[in-house]
Amino acid sequence: MHYLVIGGAGYIGSHMVKLLIGEGHGVTIVDDLSSGHADALLGGELIVHDFSDRAFLDRLFSSVKFDGVFHFASQILVGESVTNPAKYYRANTFATLTLLEAMRDHKIDYFVFSSTAAVYGEPEYTPIDENHRKVPVNPYGASKYMVEMMLADFHRAHGLKYVALRYFNAAGADPQSRLGERHEPETHLIPLALKAVLGKKPPLKLFGRDYDTPDGTCIRDYIHVDDLSSAHLLAMQYLYAGGESTAFNLGNGAGYSVQQVIDVVGKVTGRPVPVEYAPRREGDPARLVADASKAKKVLGWQPVLTGLETIVQHAWNWEAASQ
Ligand code: UDP
Repeated sequence: MHYLVIGGAGYIGSHMVKLLIGEGHGVTIVDDLSSGHADALLGGELIVHDFSDRAFLDRLFSSVKFDGVFHFASQILVGESVTNPAKYYRANTFATLTLLEAMRDHKIDYFVFSSTAAVYGEPEYTPIDENHRKVPVNPYGASKYMVEMMLADFHRAHGLKYVALRYFNAAGADPQSRLGERHEPETHLIPLALKAVLGKKPPLKLFGRDYDTPDGTCIRDYIHVDDLSSAHLLAMQYLYAGGESTAFNLGNGAGYSVQQVIDVVGKVTGRPVPVEYAPRREGDPARLVADASKAKKVLGWQPVLTGLETIVQHAWNWEAASQ
């Protein structure tokens, strides 16, 4: 197979490229390198370009008949999406519409989309299954949910075959430390805790200790980036086997509190994490845990790097090596 990976030079996309190459597939990557890194690619052909340029897509799709598209490119900062919503609707929603139109016109029918647990908004219950109400509480979640709605409509109207994968908290790194998380700015808990240990960043701000959870800190579902990648390939294979177009949650189904993460980082690194207590961060639900049983049952997905210690260990190996 020859796949197109949009946003393949980013954190999750680069792990996906690694997997596809390892499985012997042809891979073309389109990434404008606005947040990705060319040296994160372990293979494939990189085209540095904005994927929302329709004339570019027409040229590309006329020259290569891709068997499917994996789409990872997006803006991901929830707070920024509140203050600058247009950036999110343009980059995440409108750009993806252009891509879908080009795919429709060039008869590329297989699509796996990076969606997010943010489509659900404030959880009404946990663990969250796919039928939970979708009431995004910020433009980031809304911009992704709008794409999911477009996908369902393109499916009905044009026969697009798609899977939308709703990630919970992507974390970890390549077990061989060739790839890892390199966001700028970094906002995620595990890399910030590791950078605080190394003195590369100030002490970790722990946002809120007064939540209705056993230790008062927020609970999240951390899923290894390699396990996320394997779900994408299974999703594409599922579509090729005639599977229904649909959405799946991707998480471990296990919740860990921010304090537990900090404790594990301390254990893995052998050093205490410098922490400062800070007020709650706006828009953080107390508890976000996936019910991922649908992906396990329907896709046959089985996450293997499930322990928080393993996830933190891989992230630490990467972080310490990239000093
Ligand atoms: N968090 C924190 N300090 C930070 C970054 C994150 O206390 O510097 C907390 C955050 O409030 C949330 C959890 O860690 O409860 C995970 O946050 P992250 O930004 O990694 O992912 P999110 O759950 O927002 O997608």
